[in-house]
Amino acid sequence: MHFTDTVYRNPYWPTFPLLQITQGCTHNRCKFCTMYKGVPFKLQPTEWIEEDLKELAEGVPDAKTIQLLSANPLCMTYDKLAPILEMIGKYLPKMEYIYAATRVTDIRNKTVEQLKSLKGMGLREISLGVESGDDWTLDRVVKGYHAEDIIEQCGKLTEAGVDFWMSFLNGVAGKEHSMDHAIHSAEVFSRCKPMLVGTGGLVLFPGTPLLEEAERGEFTPLSEKEMLIELKTFVEHLTCNCTFITHHTVSGKNLTGPNFLAMKENIVSTLDDEIKHGDMDRMAAIRRSKRTL
Ligand code: SF4
Repeated sequence: MHFTDTVYRNPYWPTFPLLQITQGCTHNRCKFCTMYKGVPFKLQPTEWIEEDLKELAEGVPDAKTIQLLSANPLCMTYDKLAPILEMIGKYLPKMEYIYAATRVTDIRNKTVEQLKSLKGMGLREISLGVESGDDWTLDRVVKGYHAEDIIEQCGKLTEAGVDFWMSFLNGVAGKEHSMDHAIHSAEVFSRCKPMLVGTGGLVLFPGTPLLEEAERGEFTPLSEKEMLIELKTFVEHLTCNCTFITHHTVSGKNLTGPNFLAMKENIVSTLDDEIKHGDMDRMAAIRRSKRTL
């Protein structure tokens, strides 16, 4: 198999076979991310994709699911992407479910009809590393889109019937804009109605512009308690039903499940309890031990 850079595996369906169709990230500018630093964006050569599919056809001929790589494989235009999905169907004829993580901006170059057509070829689920629905925050970390883009592109996915997840990055706005980030993100996510909302917590990794800004005093990270308060605010304002998953360091507790609205009260009271009694040193130690997003 031709894997040339960081492999980000779907954290909830870890048994997927993986197929790389692009290299790196088209954007590669988010201030908190080092995943594809030094990896120039390229389309994977078609002959490599076909060789990999032949290998998969020998190894897992009955595969029904597959994950596309790399950072944002759906950036391709419909005309480039559709033949690849057709090729997947040719080599893996039992394929039912194609998944990819990708950027909100990658949906822009496709019409609803084209998205429906891709769905017909097996594209069933997309995860969007949205991180925030607050324009100030999105600009601050150079995500490359605004809340209106998120709402518009997610609306197209909904119309096409392609399921999608959205992620909220707890702490990414820093201290001054924490509440705007929490409230505006919850409002945008609620309007988009994703099938799954995942929440992760900011870690300032070495080599990221955001860490350098923090060291210069230009970005003020949240304390562990402030992270919990921001997460609680986000949860309180989130009104769509969805599967809810958190990677917060208190996630050993009951903060994850398939029916968010039924769990919402419990999540809020668990977070409240952690805000009052949680072991902040332990949470900080877990956060410091993280090596990747
Ligand atoms: S967070 Fe995603 S879009 Fe941003 S640079 Fe990293 S991989 Fe690319």
